[in-house]
Amino acid sequence: MHEHHFHETLVDTTSLDLPATTFSRWRLQAGEWLFREGDVGDCAYLIESGKVEIFSERTGQRQVIAVLGADAIFGEMALLGNALRAASACAGEPTVLLRITREYLDERLLAAEPLTRHLLRTVVSRCREAMDRLHGLTIEPLLESPAQLPKNDADHALALTRLRVEESLEHALAQSEFELYYQPIVDLRAAAKIAGFEALVRWNKPGRGLVPPSEFIPVAEETDLIHRLGRWILQAAADGLLALQAQVRDQTPLFVTVNLSARQLQDAQLLPELRQIAERLKGQRGRLKLELTESLMIGCVEPVQQWVQQCHELGFDVVLDDFGTGYSSLAYLHRFDADTMKLDRAFVVAMHGNAAAETVVRGVIRMAHELQMNIVAEGIEMPESAEQLRALGVEYAQGYYFGKPMTLAAARALL
Ligand code: C2E
Ligand code: CA
Ligand code: CA
Repeated sequence: MHEHHFHETLVDTTSLDLPATTFSRWRLQAGEWLFREGDVGDCAYLIESGKVEIFSERTGQRQVIAVLGADAIFGEMALLGNALRAASACAGEPTVLLRITREYLDERLLAAEPLTRHLLRTVVSRCREAMDRLHGLTIEPLLESPAQLPKNDADHALALTRLRVEESLEHALAQSEFELYYQPIVDLRAAAKIAGFEALVRWNKPGRGLVPPSEFIPVAEETDLIHRLGRWILQAAADGLLALQAQVRDQTPLFVTVNLSARQLQDAQLLPELRQIAERLKGQRGRLKLELTESLMIGCVEPVQQWVQQCHELGFDVVLDDFGTGYSSLAYLHRFDADTMKLDRAFVVAMHGNAAAETVVRGVIRMAHELQMNIVAEGIEMPESAEQLRALGVEYAQGYYFGKPMTLAAARALL
């Protein structure tokens, strides 16, 4: 049965800065029941004032488990474990409670990442089991009955997959299983001569082949792994740049662009690493370019501006990646102080045979130029697109039409 709530009194919760529906206050007289063992638990409680007794009657007599006072939380186990109340609760004196609803908790849990969620539920289920044992309901010794993990839990599978990917990424970093591929960026003003390359990371996973970044970068980004992987990528890209440049000697200065995750900006070791790379690239200023998306400006314009300035002082150019996707907004464009704008493939595709889209692209190009940025058009798959963009004044282009991402050796052979 569902537990009963007595004296439901909704009070003003505005002072708590929470929606009124989230929390409601309950008043109980001394001796009033809040819930009984076996009830469906659909909320947890915080004691505002008064006393609550938690007890079990399983053995036939009332066995007090705890007497709780102000600030204590109880009833959370049934809520977290999606289970029935394992004990009863009764007010020991006039008591005021704050109710924490299932909806509120679900919302919170949904916002947490799967592993946290899963660990929480595992802890709860183990606790319950220990409690059952305490009350003499389970007689088998602990070792013979390993605690059950919550069953049929999608989080369980998700958490384990995530955990395994993280573990194998750690391993991959230690075993040097990552490799940078290089995709040519051509100069549209110079008969599509190669001007540089974008470095794109791949994972050479034994037994699985090349894993694309979309499958592991987001996982790495959820932990500090992206810091170490990101620094490795930067060093490898600098190596790549030096090797590519050696191929053409000093005749043509080449550049390499590297992708940076927004989260890497929180890495305290990133700047020292960049400083060290800048020293390695002595005399090669502007040859390594850092690609960032505008999304990282949201909510922290000034620190990012400062960071961009430091990169400039070290001799790195900054590239605004994916312009034209949901991540970009004109509001931040002029504050980003990028040297290059990468026009997203979505623009290039939309423009094909569509006069209205071409007008938009024309506007974007003019704007970028007025902000002193040069432009790289991404995802060029057809010669007509390249010609159209060249005619519109776009400086550089990149795409399968000019070359797919390739190994360093293949990129050197191209030069
Ligand atoms: P991105 O920075 O926008 O990189 C361009 C992506 O478009 C690459 O996918 C590239 O292979 C693909 N591409 C290039 N030309 C064409 C084309 O003509 N048509 C189509 N359909 N696609 C094209 P990739 O290598 O799978 O990388 C995907 C994303 O993963 C990148 O998008 C970037 O956001 C991220 N990424 C790649 N390497 C790194 C890295 O080293 N560090 C970080 N933080 N992120 C990376
Ligand atoms: Ca990029
Ligand atoms: Ca891009």
